[in-house]
Amino acid sequence: MAEIVIRNLRKEFGAFTAVKGSTFTIGDGEFFMLLGPSGCGKTTTLRMIAGLELPTSGEILIDGEDVSQRPASQRDIAMVFQMFALYPHMSVRKNISYPLVSQGMPRAQVQARVAEVARILRIDHLLDKGVGGLSGGDRQRVALGRAIVRNPKAFMMDEPLGALDAEFREIMAEELRALHDRMGATTVYVTHDQLEAMQMGDKIVVMNHGVVEQFGTPQEIYDHPATLFVADFIGSPSMNFLHFEGGFRPGSTTVTLAGTRIEVPQLQEEAEGRKLVLGVRPEHVTLTADGPYRGRVVATEYLGTTQIITLDTAQGQIKARAPSGQRASAGETVGLSFAAPKLSLFDQGTGRAFR
Ligand code: ATP
Repeated sequence: MAEIVIRNLRKEFGAFTAVKGSTFTIGDGEFFMLLGPSGCGKTTTLRMIAGLELPTSGEILIDGEDVSQRPASQRDIAMVFQMFALYPHMSVRKNISYPLVSQGMPRAQVQARVAEVARILRIDHLLDKGVGGLSGGDRQRVALGRAIVRNPKAFMMDEPLGALDAEFREIMAEELRALHDRMGATTVYVTHDQLEAMQMGDKIVVMNHGVVEQFGTPQEIYDHPATLFVADFIGSPSMNFLHFEGGFRPGSTTVTLAGTRIEVPQLQEEAEGRKLVLGVRPEHVTLTADGPYRGRVVATEYLGTTQIITLDTAQGQIKARAPSGQRASAGETVGLSFAAPKLSLFDQGTGRAFR
């Protein structure tokens, strides 16, 4: 088990900077997500933690020890890749024992450890089968078994479920999370899928263009996005953004949107005179008969218990999540109200949220 502290971590590839000074802490036993769009520097960060890539500057501390310049072999971290490679001609037992045997561990100890791992992964009954005839899920379990058998300090997983179809991915995601809860080992998991990160993670780092945009629990990141990028990236459908006229007066609790006053959370002085963007999640938009802010229904999308209603407003299109029983017909004009305490306010210039 391990706590991993990342301080001002930076990686340059020639003239290109892939990671621009990241700082965050991965708590002991946490399931930790590195989330962001393709090319944002997630894999590079993971590889630096594992020791497969050396940082240009900054520090990586594992349980208080600076390992930044140590090779992977001296960090006691297991890497789980997307393409789980197994030895096809060997039995499940041999595949799982391999890392221990090659370390020179005595036979009896290897057998005991393999039995324990097989129990944790619930593949005891497969130990003497060849891996060739196994189902996809069982192959993944065997590959995981090979990664966990050494009992490393931490696991690094780079989009481990990326190659699976949606249904199977969900099953394996649940299994991975349950496995983590049974073992309690610190796990760092790279994904570009915000839903996967929200569902599986204890903590999430959201990256964009090599920069850490936000670091927190899924709920903190969803409820209080620190930047416009995070607000847009997390949530489906994404947050609505409304640009309103004029600078903001500190202490005020209303803003003017298309001639209508809208209630917002009270802001600090730093917001004075700044152009703001109002962020409102679809579930915090309510359709009313006579609200002052108006929208015209252009489409509805049925999702079972809820529906997503798309509306044209003076500020552009807005999406609202409403109970599926609520009637909304295309072409109809309705009032819209926003749940004031749930709104986010961003500085239009810097993209950062005001608190
Ligand atoms: P993806 O999900 O597409 O893998 P990522 O967020 O994991 O994206 P990285 O693989 O960390 O992104 O790459 C970040 C940037 O660094 C990319 O623009 C990539 O092209 C660049 N990069 C990564 N490795 C190298 C390298 N060895 N040499 C040069 N550039 C690199």
